[in-house]
Amino acid sequence: MPLRKEPATRWAWVEIDQGALRRNVRAFKNLLGPRQRLCCVVKADAYGHGAVPCAKIMHATGTDMFAVATVNEGVELREGGITEPIVVLSEPPLTAIDTLLEHRLMPSIYTSEFALAYGERAVSLGVVGKYHMAIETGMNRIGVHYADVIDFRRSIDFHRGIECDGVFTHFATADESNGWDYKLQRKRFDEAVAAMRDAGFECGIVHCDNTAASILDRSTHYDMIRAGIGLYGLQPCEATRPVFPLEPVMSVRARVTRTAHPAMGEGVGYGFTYRVPRARVQICTIPVGYADGLARTLSNRMDVLYRGVRVPQVGNICMDQCMVAITQTSREQVPEAEMGDLVTIIGRDGDAEITMDEMARLRGTINYEVACGFGMRLEKIYT
Ligand SMILES: *Cc1c(COP(=O)(O)O)cnc(C)c1O
Repeated sequence: MPLRKEPATRWAWVEIDQGALRRNVRAFKNLLGPRQRLCCVVKADAYGHGAVPCAKIMHATGTDMFAVATVNEGVELREGGITEPIVVLSEPPLTAIDTLLEHRLMPSIYTSEFALAYGERAVSLGVVGKYHMAIETGMNRIGVHYADVIDFRRSIDFHRGIECDGVFTHFATADESNGWDYKLQRKRFDEAVAAMRDAGFECGIVHCDNTAASILDRSTHYDMIRAGIGLYGLQPCEATRPVFPLEPVMSVRARVTRTAHPAMGEGVGYGFTYRVPRARVQICTIPVGYADGLARTLSNRMDVLYRGVRVPQVGNICMDQCMVAITQTSREQVPEAEMGDLVTIIGRDGDAEITMDEMARLRGTINYEVACGFGMRLEKIYT
């Protein structure tokens, strides 16, 4: 067994391929013109990949800004030594204002109440509070309604404590950039930005593209793109797959913590949802469970890789562990496992691969959620 970098205290971990992350960041930078910026979205602990270590790689590869979902995520980046501008992609409660200003985090703003309170506090601290203005163009999630942008700016722009660093919107259907819904959002955004400019309001950095839109519609890169999922080597939708190759960054691995040969008819795991169907079935335990992101709905439905071969997971997935069955069939001769043998839950092993997308399909969700889940508790190893 070649020596691998892995945690000292648990036989399960997430591997982060720093080279792949770097190459994905470069691929996005290559989409941009000379004056266009890259904002790396590192919310939810960089989609489970580890926010500070990933942000450092993105910084070294060249990123202009970071985006997070929560104020605390922004504070974590600052405490980790990240100095680039950071935008928080929603408007937090008023009670977050001191933390925002202390750590130079730019909130997204869409209520005048927040904008003015933010400005007041900034003035009293002798600073200027930068912000990004969110514009609601059709997703019906956050932002100032596209028809109200002038009234909104009139109600806040007199304040000397605030400064608009950017205006943005978010597409609900970026995976269909030829669709009517996408085009309508784009039109509403363009008109709102033009109206603000015509009225003399500073717009700063204009941005709207997530990963899918960045790849599928280069005409909306404007001043900056906000790339998330693609940085981590995952495709946002089927349309981008053939046109923009990416390298998966995360693998999930574990080692066998116990092996046994229960007699035919014995049950495995809570509720005995699997019973050993015949003699000479080896049941191996691996220390990854639903609290590590291996959703319980995958029980008896997923495979793992062992020595480059798929073997089925059996029995209900527990909170911290699950079991797999190694059965000798006439087709494939898999050597029996020993305690400490390597198992791949996501990633490559020899010629075989289990992708986030495969697991997402089995779970009835998207690769985004699968990746975030594995980030919850497993230790991350940067290779
Ligand atoms: C999450 C998010 C992104 C990134 O989306 P991806 O599909 O992961 O690229 C961009 N903008 C906003 C507002 C977001 O919430």
